[in-house]
Amino acid sequence: MNHETASSAPAPESRRSFLKKTAFATAAVALVRFGAGTHAAAAAEPGGAVADAPAAPAGPWYRRARRWGQTNITEIDPTRYDVAWWRQQWKRTRVQGVIVNAGGIVAYYPTQVPMHRRAQFLGDRDLFGELCTAAHADGLAVFARMDSSGAHEELYRAHPDWFAVDAVGKPYRARDLYVSCVNGPYYEQHLLAILRELVARYHPEGFTDNSWSGLGRGSICYCENCQKKFHERAGRDLPRLKDWNDPTYREWIRWSYACRLEVWDRNNRVTRDAGGPDCLWVGMNGGDVAGQAEQFRDCKEICARAEIIMLDDQRRQNATGFARNGEVGKLVHGLLGWDKLAPESMAMYQTTAPTFRLSSKPEPESRLWMVEGFAGGIQPWWHHVGAYDEDRRMYRTPVALCQWHAANEEFLFNRRPIATVGVAWSQQNTDFFGRDDAELQVELPWNGLRQALVRGRIPYLPVHLDHLERDAAQFRLLILPNLAAMSDAQVASVRRFVEGGGGLLATGPSSLCNEWGDARPDFALADLFGAHLPENHGMRVEATRRRWAAESAHTYLRLTLELRARGDVPHAPDEPPATGERHPALRGFDATDILPFGGTLEALRIEPSAQVLATFIPPFPVSPPEMSWMRTPKTDIAGLVVNQRANGARVAYLAADLDRRYGRDNLPDHGDLLANLVRWTARDDLPLRVEGPGLIDCHLYRQPGRAILHLVNLTNAGTWRAPVDELIPVGPLRVAVRLPDGVAGRRLRLLVSGGTTSPDLGDGWARFELRSVLDHEVAVIE
Ligand SMILES: [Zn+2]
Repeated sequence: MNHETASSAPAPESRRSFLKKTAFATAAVALVRFGAGTHAAAAAEPGGAVADAPAAPAGPWYRRARRWGQTNITEIDPTRYDVAWWRQQWKRTRVQGVIVNAGGIVAYYPTQVPMHRRAQFLGDRDLFGELCTAAHADGLAVFARMDSSGAHEELYRAHPDWFAVDAVGKPYRARDLYVSCVNGPYYEQHLLAILRELVARYHPEGFTDNSWSGLGRGSICYCENCQKKFHERAGRDLPRLKDWNDPTYREWIRWSYACRLEVWDRNNRVTRDAGGPDCLWVGMNGGDVAGQAEQFRDCKEICARAEIIMLDDQRRQNATGFARNGEVGKLVHGLLGWDKLAPESMAMYQTTAPTFRLSSKPEPESRLWMVEGFAGGIQPWWHHVGAYDEDRRMYRTPVALCQWHAANEEFLFNRRPIATVGVAWSQQNTDFFGRDDAELQVELPWNGLRQALVRGRIPYLPVHLDHLERDAAQFRLLILPNLAAMSDAQVASVRRFVEGGGGLLATGPSSLCNEWGDARPDFALADLFGAHLPENHGMRVEATRRRWAAESAHTYLRLTLELRARGDVPHAPDEPPATGERHPALRGFDATDILPFGGTLEALRIEPSAQVLATFIPPFPVSPPEMSWMRTPKTDIAGLVVNQRANGARVAYLAADLDRRYGRDNLPDHGDLLANLVRWTARDDLPLRVEGPGLIDCHLYRQPGRAILHLVNLTNAGTWRAPVDELIPVGPLRVAVRLPDGVAGRRLRLLVSGGTTSPDLGDGWARFELRSVLDHEVAVIE
């Protein structure tokens, strides 16, 4: 092993780091294994600001281990795992816990569990044991990593009833393995024996497992155990076909979720019985709801059970961008609570398609994903595949950021987000409205809306619809982005929010369907929208909705009122007179009477109280140019309706699917109109203003006596085309933060560029300028 490849040496000893270590060790003194605390925090980080010594985190290991590392062991690694070097890397990166492969598909220790296959090159080595001992000696927590998803052929031959089979009894295969069934003895006995063996022999703090939830939603298991168990629950046989309109299939979906929660609960009972109340089994979970739905992982129920969420969400996608990682942190903490941790596996290797496990991801690409995670309350967890990498650049990637994270813990934990805009979601909508088109019907509108909010520098929080009552007090606006499947109770909670004066922005078929995705006679919130769905409207039909969502038609929206009669531009004989002023939601569009659209609209019934701000212009040819003129320049088919309620609450209903179109087409007009609608419905009650060039993702938090603004600079040639290979500074940025109660605002500290200054104060706001932001900046106002 070439030891000089990681260039950053461990930070030198200093009084500050000594004090931190002492504090950490004192807090941890009662702990047997994790918590000897030999390298709890860095003194300083290269090029960054020096923070005050953070208070030592208290509580059990799963509250204290704030940085994680994982060397995902391949079967060849027992021949070459350089434990001494990796211990140095643990120290350099200030990790407080490691994830070490233990068992499942193969064992990395001399297991005695029958047919638990040992890794090919394990030989006599107890690699898991060595690493676990080393980590404990270094004061680190250890997650024993399992993979429950499958096994090799010899186990299938010995126990065919442990494995998932299709309708004709043929076993499901994945990656040359046989897929184990969550309802059979593989999960209920074999894996539990492995968990018990590992606890008894090595005392890991807990267990993770990235493939814990069995067969995905795309396949139905017809093994004897599933047949029997489903029949006992539903009183009927398993569904033969996928049919979202079939009650048996719907029941199978719900039951499949319940089976995974049983796995979660059972595994936790076993590890806690064997290893004590803090010996947790926490699986792994993804950050995107559609991905979780496809694996029957119920985000809300899992977070309700979990003490810590280990996120397996290693990279950004071109379609959703870096900002999604900040959002994932907020979505998960919204379910989990902000006092708990959500570390995320962050790939140091090339993962943005195509994947090269052994090549280093460009450092700026890793960096932006990681700092977006920090901004959303996610903790770092570096991840390598294989213990010996010839592309040595990846060892340098996490060092400086992890050291920065360690030095600035005080500002990254024990904080609460500030946002007046809530964006509603539910996994039930992903399942029963999204069905097999969740990408198109649920994800894309959400992504477009997120991009509009980020671009508009509008702080927002994802809010689960079932938590609206709990969380409503902080919001001035609730957004329903294509959120069609809503139970009566969820509809009622939205209604109460608006009755309490909250604003509402709803798009597309929001509130049209019940919790199973069946269309109601009208939008459940039609009276709030001021718009009703006629009986024969195409939006009611699933196939029509799909066609409209997928199409890119040559259609437009006409803004009212029309202003083209004004100004020194070409004029036509039939121009309407430009009298009056436009609605503030159309601010910035005075130089156009039309906006590009691309979708299809049919007529709604509009209540007299409501105002139509945009109407549909039906399709006409794009080419040849001779034919590219509007055949029907004007209709009364509403695309955008605003409806101010008697109590002053502002409601906007956007029938035109500009959220989805912005997610797909990236037309700035769509992003601008969405941001306008957010500002108008929220009554401009936003806690932050940031002016200056660039794409900046803004996250605002409060601590007692402090506001903390985390800005991530996503201005980059590679922002929408991975990977990023250089960072481009932006600035100056003019920032105004509304001071939360109890924040004086007399001092401003910058945690990345360094320095302390005094902001300008006035009207309850703190104003300051950031000269330049390279990757990210954290401004602490106190
Ligand atoms: Zn089965």
